[in-house]
Amino acid sequence: MRAVVVREYGEPEVMRVEEVEKPEAEGRRVLIRVVTAGVNPVDTYIRSGLYAYAPKLPYTPGKDAAGIVEAIGPEVTRFKPGDRVYTAGSITGTYADYTLCEEDQVGLLPANVSFEEGAGIWTPYATAYRALFQKAKCQAGETLLVHGASGGVGIAAIQWAKNSQLNVAGTAGSTDGMEIATKAGADAVFDHTNEDHFAAVKNWSAGGVNVIIEMLANENLERDFECLSMFGRIVVVGSRGSIDFSPRLVMTKDATIYGMSLFNAPSDDLREIHAAIYEGLAEGFLKPFVVRKFLLEDAPRAHHEIIESKAFGKIVLDVNSAKE
Ligand code: NAP
Repeated sequence: MRAVVVREYGEPEVMRVEEVEKPEAEGRRVLIRVVTAGVNPVDTYIRSGLYAYAPKLPYTPGKDAAGIVEAIGPEVTRFKPGDRVYTAGSITGTYADYTLCEEDQVGLLPANVSFEEGAGIWTPYATAYRALFQKAKCQAGETLLVHGASGGVGIAAIQWAKNSQLNVAGTAGSTDGMEIATKAGADAVFDHTNEDHFAAVKNWSAGGVNVIIEMLANENLERDFECLSMFGRIVVVGSRGSIDFSPRLVMTKDATIYGMSLFNAPSDDLREIHAAIYEGLAEGFLKPFVVRKFLLEDAPRAHHEIIESKAFGKIVLDVNSAKE
């Protein structure tokens, strides 16, 4: 089978397609024929070798994908060959023709969801759900700022929050990004390249938002307090550097800053997330917006794109859609 293989950490070009042995499903493991694989920023951090988690070399990147169950181990109880599924992590990596997963890393794809959409589910929707509901405990009627609403997690956060009757503002750094945040359901959209957008958000929320989901904390955490309400909560989802920060800001507003990494979510919380995702997809209020597709051999271009370009939806790798 074909797989993208990383033999040394480094720039996107270290990813090359090779012929490798197809894995076998044993025990509680599920072998999935990948139709589409999701590309997430974390895949690029891991490939660079600078991330907290560094897999043993050589390895195949990717945690998210959608496809069809090819084979199951004898202890698997929840899936059978032929099931349409998405992955929430993988043992062997998802940038490949086949991926091997633990049974707990697999979720059923409702019939109304395409494989392309399925590849854009796990990391963005699970992260957004955990930030909004398991960390910030968002309630109907509250005001929310999704600071970075044009990418995978931001779009997911808007869709979850609107379904739970929050009033949602989103930000983006391009016209396309602002359009997609509006399409996802944001009540108001602001341009985060405009220095004054913090005041505009404060004005929109009549004094400050209750919750901020922050995609670039090293850039925004200090100034977020300009548009946060008293007793407000901030969830740090993304950060790509350090910041000079005054803790007095947290004190004065009696605020709470949560950190989160999806990797740390306990299994009960993950089960709750899978169930909520299935319901949201089946009911149709969750819908990944896939905007850019690359072939498996173009994985390096996809990695450049997700880090260097403005976001306006999900980036995926088309692995085997021609065979569907
Ligand atoms: P993505 O699709 O690449 O989107 C990146 C988002 O960040 C875009 O909306 C982008 O907006 C926005 N952004 C850029 N500059 C910004 C600024 N100055 N202020 C606010 N937002 C800004 O990535 P993603 O999948 O949505 O992930 C978003 C971040 O969360 C990434 O850093 C990722 O690593 C992190 N993440 C963390 C976890 C976790 O467990 N903690 C899980 C998943 C993702 P424009 O491009 O429109 O400027």
